[in-house]
Amino acid sequence: MTARPRLTVVGTGYLGATHAVCMAELGYDVLGLDVDTAKVEALAAGTVPFFEPGLPELLRKNLDSGRLRFTTSYEQVGAFGDVHFVCVGTPQKKGENAADLRYVDAAVASLAPHLRPGALVVGKSTVPAGTAARLASELSLTAPEAELAWNPEFLREGFAVEDTLRPDRLVFGVRSVRAEALLRAAYEPVIDLPTPVVVTDFATAELVKVAANAFLATKISFINAMAEVCEVTGGDVTKLSEALSYDDRIGGRFLHAGLGFGGGCLPKDIRAFMARAGELGVDQALTFLREVDAINLRRRARMVDLAREELNGSFHGSRVAVLGAAFKPNSDDTRDSPALDVAAALHRQGATVTVYDPAAMANARRLRPELAYADSTLHAARDADLVLHLTEWQEFRQLDPAVLGSVVAHRRVLDGRNALDPQRWRDAGWTYRALGRP
Ligand code: NAD
Repeated sequence: MTARPRLTVVGTGYLGATHAVCMAELGYDVLGLDVDTAKVEALAAGTVPFFEPGLPELLRKNLDSGRLRFTTSYEQVGAFGDVHFVCVGTPQKKGENAADLRYVDAAVASLAPHLRPGALVVGKSTVPAGTAARLASELSLTAPEAELAWNPEFLREGFAVEDTLRPDRLVFGVRSVRAEALLRAAYEPVIDLPTPVVVTDFATAELVKVAANAFLATKISFINAMAEVCEVTGGDVTKLSEALSYDDRIGGRFLHAGLGFGGGCLPKDIRAFMARAGELGVDQALTFLREVDAINLRRRARMVDLAREELNGSFHGSRVAVLGAAFKPNSDDTRDSPALDVAAALHRQGATVTVYDPAAMANARRLRPELAYADSTLHAARDADLVLHLTEWQEFRQLDPAVLGSVVAHRRVLDGRNALDPQRWRDAGWTYRALGRP
């Protein structure tokens, strides 16, 4: 095998498009594939069909260099690649906690008949433990000269380019020395940084990803549980978490109380993890994740209750401005977004809700067409009886409460992210309330 294997990326969504672009940036020849023709055409024309800082520039640079191309043809992908990264979605099944594996199954099945002898298929999607072993035996029937590996992905939306070019670790789930060598060749510039590589069996590789997400979700729900206790004791969860954070056994990251987690990964990953544990007969080991999920969802309900209190018990006839629609800042991803969930709940209960987000307007409109949308914070807040801050974009942190105060009907703000400066807002005549604080 040459030192520089040729790479393909199957599924060019948030993960796959970033992976394809960054691997080309690292000097590899990369062919990306998606079944979504519009997405492939956009990427091939130099447009990233979602918001990710830094990615559009790198896409255009690497298209121009000729190292990066996109296609909808599995035949071309099979003929081109030595290493094929599978990055398709694994959403939650409708009405169930389990992951829907149909896209992963379809991607591997479509790829199999076109693989060249010796090709390595590398799963990057987040999957339940046991998936790689099953796919490997299926692949051994349809493409006996190809091999499978699992290489979970840890990138964060909003920092996806940096996380792909300089990840904090690589995990290779492999069954042969050759598969490990191919993966090392496919990541050579990253490994040389240096980046730690953990080589494991399939099950461990699959579990690392869901275990990491389970831990992060637990940390967020832990501090949000403390916020619930603060709310009835008069404590201030922001001071509590600051004090905890100085203990380096605990650390301050992911210890920020607020409206909780959402997005296309954490919620569905902890649910799929619980579902898989149930199938394996170890559901008790993960019962705590049910609480983690419940605490997280209770924060959304609490936000709605706080809003109702502020509006004297009823949403009818009231205008509410919602700042934020993405599940987190620096992303346009609205999958399972706490902000949109709260906005939709207020709308259902009779409020007139106007939403503004710096990047997620198109996705929000598609997901929640019943809500009203404005093209700026000031437009959203015009004549509002209540302003809700639900996604902590820098733009919202920097708002001038006096300027915003001049357009609203009532100076009332609920800070769902504990990110605004209470004193500044109160000094400008606002009633400021937040989760977990007096
Ligand atoms: P996404 O929905 O943005 O992208 C999935 C892509 O796969 C879509 O473009 C879709 O058209 C394509 N696809 C579906 N079926 C296909 C097929 N048969 N052949 C080719 N392409 C197909 O999802 P995403 O956020 O990129 O997540 C992908 C996987 O990566 C998931 O398992 C997710 O849990 C995992 N992951 C995501 C992130 C993240 O931050 N988004 C981080 C780490 C891991």
